[in-house]
Amino acid sequence: MSGLSHRLQIALYTDGSSARTPGSDLRYGCQMNPTPHLSKNEPAHSVQTIDALIVGAGFSGMYQLLCLRDKLGMTAKVLEAGSGVGGTWFWNRYPGARCDSESHSYMYYFSKELVHEWDWSERYPQQPEILRYLNYVADKFSLRPDIELNTRMDSAHFDASTNRWLVTTAGGQQYSAHFLITAVGCLSSANVPKIEGLSEFKGDWYHTAEWPHEGVDFTGKRVGIIGTGSTGIQAIPIIAEQAAHLTVFQRTANYSLPARHHPLSAEFKQYAKEHADEIYETMTTNTNGHAFKITDRSALELPEQARNAIYEAAWQKGGFQFRAEFRDLLIDSAANKTAADFICNKIRGIVHDPKTADVLADIDHPFAAKRPPVDSNYFETYNRDNVTLVDLRESPIERITAQGIQTTDREYGLDVIVFATGFDAMTGALLNMDITGLDHQTLKEVWHAGPKTYLGLQVPGFPNMFTITGPGSPSVLCNLPPAIEQHVNWITDCLRHMQENGLKRIQTTHEASEYWQGQVTDAANATLLAEVKHSWYLGANVPGKPRVFMPYAGGLGAYTVICDQVAKNNYQGFEIS
Ligand code: NAP
Repeated sequence: MSGLSHRLQIALYTDGSSARTPGSDLRYGCQMNPTPHLSKNEPAHSVQTIDALIVGAGFSGMYQLLCLRDKLGMTAKVLEAGSGVGGTWFWNRYPGARCDSESHSYMYYFSKELVHEWDWSERYPQQPEILRYLNYVADKFSLRPDIELNTRMDSAHFDASTNRWLVTTAGGQQYSAHFLITAVGCLSSANVPKIEGLSEFKGDWYHTAEWPHEGVDFTGKRVGIIGTGSTGIQAIPIIAEQAAHLTVFQRTANYSLPARHHPLSAEFKQYAKEHADEIYETMTTNTNGHAFKITDRSALELPEQARNAIYEAAWQKGGFQFRAEFRDLLIDSAANKTAADFICNKIRGIVHDPKTADVLADIDHPFAAKRPPVDSNYFETYNRDNVTLVDLRESPIERITAQGIQTTDREYGLDVIVFATGFDAMTGALLNMDITGLDHQTLKEVWHAGPKTYLGLQVPGFPNMFTITGPGSPSVLCNLPPAIEQHVNWITDCLRHMQENGLKRIQTTHEASEYWQGQVTDAANATLLAEVKHSWYLGANVPGKPRVFMPYAGGLGAYTVICDQVAKNNYQGFEIS
């Protein structure tokens, strides 16, 4: 163990006292200054000086804005590329788009009033309902005046002499912000695989994460869908109901759990409101951020019949809770196999055609080691006459032709291709922006071998910049709203600390981020997650992306304790001046 990791290890679990020297003035106000670096050909915008600039108006950006503005009295702006708020839920409008987290856990808990006012209608909220909720939040807390829609951040450059970020938008507006906070989401940079011939395709094609707002009419169409992850598995049953024919191109077979979706009863809605504190406590102290706890029993301590009875009850109940029935499903291969076998038997029981069932149940990774989808009638859809499954492992795609998709086996004629092919996850959206920190180093350069952060909150060399649910935080391994609230609360407390002490610059160190990267790797290696070499958790779905396990697998509860200790220990691992 290096000197620093040893110190951090101790510090993370020991109280420290504050020894910060208060700096001089911190100004929190909005001023307009003449633009400094514009050439003659650039539009003459003035630079707006603000305290904080937030990128993205989804769950994270909106809550961060609220906290900075209302709790700290800061001037803050949110830049949002979309024409509306909502982030993920603004863009992902594909057929069947719904959240896999249950409604009562997929919401903000920071405002009791909001919790009591808002009623979810169904067990899992559909995309339009989540978007309505986020718009309701924007209105309720009067966030819109500080959100610039249709505004994409192009670049952000840190000026070490002023400790400020100069942010330029695609439209040429400029902001000088003391703090830059990215709230760009973990799954927001669509991954359209580079398959030869796409430009020659005569039909229409869409990526699920950039779905046309007016929808797509599949009536009478021959549709091909590539991808059987959470998105594909949601979209396939709905598209199959409309299309003349749906061909599913599957590369990797996937486990999926039935959602058992249903409208929420008045009793449940009442229960969720009355037990809001309890629910929040459960979500924020467990591993996965959901409103249920993982049981303490091992899958291997029960005889097969008793174990399968537990799986059967969870299967009938539906949802992610299935994976919480035994504590060792994600850490012990033999325990995991009991769940995997149960699900594969279910697939074979549902799908009538044995050959199709074989292709669907031929799963090459442990259960839940890739993010397990939750579905409504997914496997049942393969019993329809108008659905064909193509096994790409048997016959890979060779190219896209003018008429459809050519595999090594044959050509499939198509009118529409749907890419449910996922995202350049966790780093894609950050690296799409030109972010330049100290010594003119860009984030792209610093992360050329993979992302390195301290706690997923800061990158060394990028002072006064925070990454909400950044790589290295639990993020995608848990239900996101509680993870977002935890990050935003931590950042807000940190900035309050700086405000109160007149501090101007916070930056993490290389040592701290090296230490944390070790923790992220160790946490992944302690689970079966690290065994899957082709998962997007590792960046393996994007050719050329460095293979680094990105989210922190130690659990939201444990992570929160670590972050709180870091703050208590005088922001151990950060230099604040
Ligand atoms: P994904 O899990 O990355 O799945 C992408 C699918 O496309 C995989 O089946 C992948 O196959 C396939 N694919 C990618 N490139 C391909 C190629 N060149 N040729 C053939 N197949 C290709 O993406 P996703 O389904 O959009 O889900 C991403 C994450 O978003 C989820 O894990 C979840 O965290 C989140 N999400 C949540 C919800 C929800 O809550 N309801 C819904 C959707 C998504 P391989 O497996 O072989 O790479």
